[in-house]
Amino acid sequence: MFVLDSHCDTPSQIKRLRDLSIDNDHSHVDFPKLKKGGVDGAFFALYTPASVTGDSAYHHANELLGLVRSTVSRCNDIASLAMSPCEALANKDKGLFSVCIGMENGSPLGESLQRADEFHKAGVRYLTLCHSRDNLICDSCAQGSTWHGLSPFGRDLVRHMNRLGMIVDVSHASDETFYDVIRHSKAPVAATHSCCRALASHQRNMTDDMLKVLAAEGGVVQINFYPVFLDDSFAVRLDESGLLEKEYIEDRFIEDPADPLRREEWYALLDELAALRRPSFRRIADHIDHAVEVAGIDHVGLGSDFDGIGVTPDGMDDVSCFPVILDELRDRGYKESDVAKIAGGNFLRVWSDVQSSVF
Ligand SMILES: [Zn+2]
Repeated sequence: MFVLDSHCDTPSQIKRLRDLSIDNDHSHVDFPKLKKGGVDGAFFALYTPASVTGDSAYHHANELLGLVRSTVSRCNDIASLAMSPCEALANKDKGLFSVCIGMENGSPLGESLQRADEFHKAGVRYLTLCHSRDNLICDSCAQGSTWHGLSPFGRDLVRHMNRLGMIVDVSHASDETFYDVIRHSKAPVAATHSCCRALASHQRNMTDDMLKVLAAEGGVVQINFYPVFLDDSFAVRLDESGLLEKEYIEDRFIEDPADPLRREEWYALLDELAALRRPSFRRIADHIDHAVEVAGIDHVGLGSDFDGIGVTPDGMDDVSCFPVILDELRDRGYKESDVAKIAGGNFLRVWSDVQSSVF
């Protein structure tokens, strides 16, 4: 079994001076926790906030890419980059953790296919087309009416990514963008960190029809662990807690992560968030059950969103807790071969299909 998390925002935390080689306080992902959790590989997302555009976005993504590469080379006794499923499996054989690279928000590309080539060459293997605002590629589910789907450049980009063998990630996309991607992509697509809208109404989640269409095209949905996407009642509790208004504390920390006071303030906010009544980790399994029922066992996996979410489900505090979700699936009657598909097999298959069927 290869255990893979298809979406962690860890590069942004490296930029906040996290040392992945040690077990960090208030962190979701570092190498000791990955090892404890039995995780064999993870996609580290080069995340560019929607507010950052133009050349700043390009430089920001390159900075994160450099940080990931230097971290991996400094920790080469623990981890290695994986540019393909084969390399990921070979790393596991050598006892190494696989760092795979994704890019979240295509704004660093501007309107340049050449930049897509450049980032692909540098190891980026999926692109989450947008984040919380419409961009030059497509509409976001959080805004959503600039293009009514993909822009003309977005359509060219999807076809170009098919030719490169780069996975198109529809998480954060609007529903119209999703269907446009399905229409234009010749390769299977992935939702690297998305939940089911039938169980929680957030716009970030996928409807049953979207799940069916995704599966029919050979794609995969990777279930997100963020309590807001898992459970509507938590979303209400978070809203009513007033803690969302304290986001400036995280922004202050990002501005100067070397300031111990700012770090302490951020940790205190994380503690307040964790003190809210949170859904159990079993809620993740509810979404997996639903996605399996609608899309099929070959089209579901895990994309935690760790390090990008300020609060996690109860019992799933960080990536070292991964085994509890796999055990929960076993308790619910999943066969070992099915657990292996959800743990990483399905995503590796899609990755392999996208890379081998270069159009
Ligand atoms: Zn995201």
